[in-house]
Order: sequence, then C-alpha cells, then structure tokens
Amino acid sequence: LWKFLKEKFKLSLSKVSFDTWIESAQPIRLTGQHLIIEVPSSLHKEYWENNLATKIVENIYEYSGQELSPVFVIKNEEDAAVIEEEKSDQPSAAINPFKKNAILNEKYVFDTFVIGKGNQMAHAAALVVAEEPGTIYNPLFFYGGVGLGKTHLMHAIGHQMLLLNPDAKVKYVTSETFANDFINSIQNKTQEKFRQEYRNVDLLLVDDIQFFADKEGTQEEFFHTFNALYDDRKQIVLTSDRLPNEIPKLQERLVSRFAWGLSVDITPPDLETRIAILRKKANAERLEIPDDTLSYIAGQIDSNIRELEGALVRVQAYAAIQSQEISTSLAADALKTMLHNSKPASLTIKDIQNAVSKFYGVPVADLKGKKRVKAIVEPRQIAMYLSREMTSSSLPKIGKEFGGKDHTTVIHAHEKIEQSLKKDDTLKEEVGQIKKTLQ
Ligand code: ADP
Ligand code: MG
Repeated sequence: LWKFLKEKFKLSLSKVSFDTWIESAQPIRLTGQHLIIEVPSSLHKEYWENNLATKIVENIYEYSGQELSPVFVIKNEEDAAVIEEEKSDQPSAAINPFKKNAILNEKYVFDTFVIGKGNQMAHAAALVVAEEPGTIYNPLFFYGGVGLGKTHLMHAIGHQMLLLNPDAKVKYVTSETFANDFINSIQNKTQEKFRQEYRNVDLLLVDDIQFFADKEGTQEEFFHTFNALYDDRKQIVLTSDRLPNEIPKLQERLVSRFAWGLSVDITPPDLETRIAILRKKANAERLEIPDDTLSYIAGQIDSNIRELEGALVRVQAYAAIQSQEISTSLAADALKTMLHNSKPASLTIKDIQNAVSKFYGVPVADLKGKKRVKAIVEPRQIAMYLSREMTSSSLPKIGKEFGGKDHTTVIHAHEKIEQSLKKDDTLKEEVGQIKKTLQ
C-alpha cells in the first residue's frame, strides 16, 4: 500500500517536495480505520494534514476499496500513540512478545549513533553491556543534559541484545511508565502480574529516573525490582539528567545501589561531532548539503542534538518550500526565526557570577578563587548552585568556570545550598532576589 501511495505522490509532486515530505514519512501501522504515519516534525505534520491527507484517503480507496484515514504522528512523540495502539491490538503471533513490548525506536541503534568526545565512554559501556549483559557494569547509569543521546543509547543496547539473542526479554520504560504501571497494579490488584512483567526480563531499561523524586511508593517498588533483577544477574540500565545523589528525595539505598555499577556522563558534542551527526543524518535522508552549510548549522546550535536535528529538518523544509537547493545563505534564512524564537539569549555562568558578585559585593575573582572565608565561600556556593539550576552546563564545565574546581566541589556546593534553602529564610530571600535580577 505504501509503495502504491508513494508512486502516486511521485507523479503529482515535484522531486524536491517528494523528497522532503514523502520520503521522510513512514507508515508505522495499519489499524481497522487508521493508517498511522510517522513524520519528522510538526512542520511535516501540518503539511501532510493540509495538503496530502485527502489525497491519501482517495488513493487508499482506489487501492483497496477501504476507507482509511491517516493519522500523523511526529517522530519521537509517537510512543504514546503506539502504546495506545498496542493495547487495542490483538495479541499477535510474534515469537517474542517482549520485542513488541520493549517499544524500541528503530532508528536508535548503534549504527546511527555518532561517537564523539562527549559520549565516547557512554557508547563503549553501552556496547559492553549489550554484549555481556548482567556481568560487568550493572547497573549501567547514563546521566547528562537533554537531547544528548541517553535514550538513543539505551534503545541501542536493547536492539543489540535482541540481535545477539532474539529470545532475550527486553523491557524499556520511562520512570513515569514504571510509576503508572505500579499504581495501576495496586488499583487493579494485579501486583503479581506487574512483578512478573518487570522481574522476568533479561534487560530492563528505565529512562529518566529523575522523575522518581517524590514518589516514595514507586521507589520502594523499584528497589525490590532492582534487587530481584540484580540478584538474578539481569542487566539494568538507567538514565537521568543528573547523578543519583543529586536527585532530590531519591532514597539513599537506591543511590547506593545505582553506584554499584558504572555511571557515565554524556556531555554536549563538540563542533566536529555536531558536523558528523548532521552529515550522517543528511546522508540517511539522502540530502545533498554542502560541507560549509553543515558546518554553519552545526555552529549555530551548540548544545542539544535534538535541536540540531530540528534545524536540519527546518532547512530541508525551507528549501522545499522555496524550491531551492540547500546552501548556507538559505540555511541562515531558514534558521533565523528558529534561533530568534529560542529562549531569550540563554544565561551563562558568567552572568550568574556577575550577579552574585554584585549582590554580595564579592569580586568575581574571589568567587573563582580558593579563599575559605565564610563571606566568600557562601556566595561562591550560591553562584555554583545557580549555575547548576539555571544553565544547562555540565558539572565539569561549571567547575572549570569557577577557577578549575572539581565537579564534586560543584555537587557539594549545590547540595549545601539546597539544604540551607530549606531552613534559612534569609538565604532563600537573597537567592530569590538574585534569580530575579537574572531573569
Ligand atoms: P536524551 O535522551 O539524552 O534527551 P535522545 O537520546 O533522545 O537524548 O537524543 C535526542 C536526539 O538526538 C535523538 O533523535 C537521537 O537520535 C539524536 N542523537 C543523540 N546523540 C546522537 C549521536 N551521538 N549520534 C546521532 N544521533 C544522536
Ligand atoms: Mg531521553
């Protein structure tokens, strides 16, 4: 059916439009009344809905005599929709039901993952774990900012393990899904089933466990899940946006268990890696983009890989709308609005140091220095705390900007201030005022 639809569109659309809108879309599922089509961005979705949806319905009718309507889901946002679909689906004759359960994104495999300085170690650890689960690094814990590839690596481990052992039971969930499943199991009195589902696996992947904060009961249950798997030498992989000991209200016993294995951080990619990632994506989509344009795009977006991909999609769509080849000047035009719309010039560590310096009358040099007098130590810790809270900088980066301090110093400062804020209203007031000047 998809082939037929593509042929139809090929006839009615220009090549560049076809490449942009149709080639980037993928049918992911056919249900009773719907054809679920995955598209890369909201821009694509809009285009499909406005321009192509009715044609699809007509063409499907022509092909099969059936009345099917298309539903467009955006890549990476499709999980929820897919899960809904899975639920209503007949239990299929799949040989390995866990394969379906795992809901691994097809694109998140090792092959599509570009290795760079910031993720090299995480990548290596992921491979080891996929090949020798449960024996060497257990649990494996990835931490780092948004859009840096934690989820991608996690899925890649799942895929690789299934490749090596097609009967392996792989389960991927976000911490929220785990929490919801747990709560539902209590409400429906299906705890036994819940335990079976989570403990009878070879690989459990739990994404974004920072959302376990404040969920006492869930943490308790996860503790038991963890122990059961660990004792059985089953592999556990976890991710979070920060280290376990920085997750507020994460029970000490979980923190200490997570430290049994290996924790690896993923830091933002350098320019070369960003270019390599763009090049790989462009090749995968068979886009012809000159090198200097790739460098330009990579130079504009410097932290988050998801945004980097978004930029590429935007440039691609813009070229299609304008019916022009992709060039640096076209990319600049395409990204203009995107770059302006993004957060108001993002806050830097320097801004924070200046604000704290001004507020307490302590020279910036002292904030970066080593003096241990209280009048300096506290502002320094506040500045570190705010850098952690208000910027997306990694711990090592913050340490570096504070005169080359170790990242553990930053963690300590952050914790210290976080604790003090709970008890000390004056401090709270002061920090609040500094924040205000920064916003
Ligand atoms: P996180 O879970 O850390 O927020 P994701 O794993 O969701 O980040 O990654 C965001 C996007 O960037 C995904 O589309 C992913 O495929 C892509 N990505 C991240 N790191 C890489 C990499 N090293 N090579 C290729 N693509 C990457
Ligand atoms: Mg993620």
